[in-house]
Amino acid sequence: MHSDLARVVITERALKQRVAEMAADIVDAYAGQDGGITIVSILAGSIIFLGDLIRQLPMRMRIGLVWVSSYPGKATGARGSVIGEANLPDLQGRDVLILDDILDTGHTLRLVQDRLHGAGARTVKTAVLLRKPAKAPPDVPVEFVGFDVDDEFVVGYGLDYDGLYRNLPFIAVLHPRLYESGCPT
Ligand code: 5GP
Ligand code: MG
Repeated sequence: MHSDLARVVITERALKQRVAEMAADIVDAYAGQDGGITIVSILAGSIIFLGDLIRQLPMRMRIGLVWVSSYPGKATGARGSVIGEANLPDLQGRDVLILDDILDTGHTLRLVQDRLHGAGARTVKTAVLLRKPAKAPPDVPVEFVGFDVDDEFVVGYGLDYDGLYRNLPFIAVLHPRLYESGCPT
């Protein structure tokens, strides 16, 4: 294992299995909807989840990409958020499925859900790979959850610390040594 990491919390194998189960749940939820769906994936943390999940969704789909900047660089905690649209199809009357890496305070998803309802989506559902239930607020509905995790800072499978570790095929906790210059959460 990489020396920057303290321990693996979700293995590559467990991720693969759970993402397949989530795909099956999503297929069931949209069964009979011939118009297909529009996936809106929140950059950059959701990129691996997006890639692995959509290849198991045999349905008509368009893909939109948005970014929300709430943890810029090594900043410790949210500094207010901006939402940007890297590529967003027309959402009027569409059934939209938002993908994000992790639901923590819900600030990011609340912002994106509001924006997509405002853009005229017919339905908005949300799938997150990870959720920190200690903080997840009740006013941010999330229909599909991969794993509940403890309230500690994790990296890998798309999630970064200072731009690094997104390419790890598993989810891990950073070595405490890396927090010495300031805890990322
Ligand atoms: P929220 O807005 O729900 O507080 O936080 C969601 C965003 O914060 C996630 O999309 C992610 O970018 C970042 N975040 C929250 N917790 C973690 C974590 O444990 N690890 C990493 N790498 N990012 C996190
Ligand atoms: Mg994110």
